[in-house]
Amino acid sequence: MDHSFASLTDNALQTGTAWLARANVRPTRQRTSLAALLVGDGQDRHVTAEGLFLAAKSSGEAVSLATVYNTLRAFCDAGLMNEITVDATRSYFDTCTEDHPHYFWEDTQELTDAPSGEVAFSRLPDPPAGAEIARVDVVIRLRRC
Ligand SMILES: [Zn+2]
Repeated sequence: MDHSFASLTDNALQTGTAWLARANVRPTRQRTSLAALLVGDGQDRHVTAEGLFLAAKSSGEAVSLATVYNTLRAFCDAGLMNEITVDATRSYFDTCTEDHPHYFWEDTQELTDAPSGEVAFSRLPDPPAGAEIARVDVVIRLRRC
């Protein structure tokens, strides 16, 4: 049992269903289970596809890693989550979609929220013609000393 996810209770499934409905995502059984694990306890979390896959497996939801990936991407496309790419091999998915910076702990490979409002940009480049800045991802990499 992975305690970094919500438990698959009836309550969590209801919360997950409501979360999907908010973005008009069709609540298939697998999507509802994954949504419940992600937001069923009302907490925001940062997850990897592998972590969610293991949590789904241990809660008895038979789902493949590829399906978990596709579902997380679908949740991002629907605006329910944001994908944060830390490096070429590692993506995190955040249930908090408000603009906020992150810490990446290099030793534990954990992504956590950094205090919002304490990052300031004095200057951003002008976007190329015909483009606008959709989002600025800030990942501050930490090493313990
Ligand atoms: Zn976050």
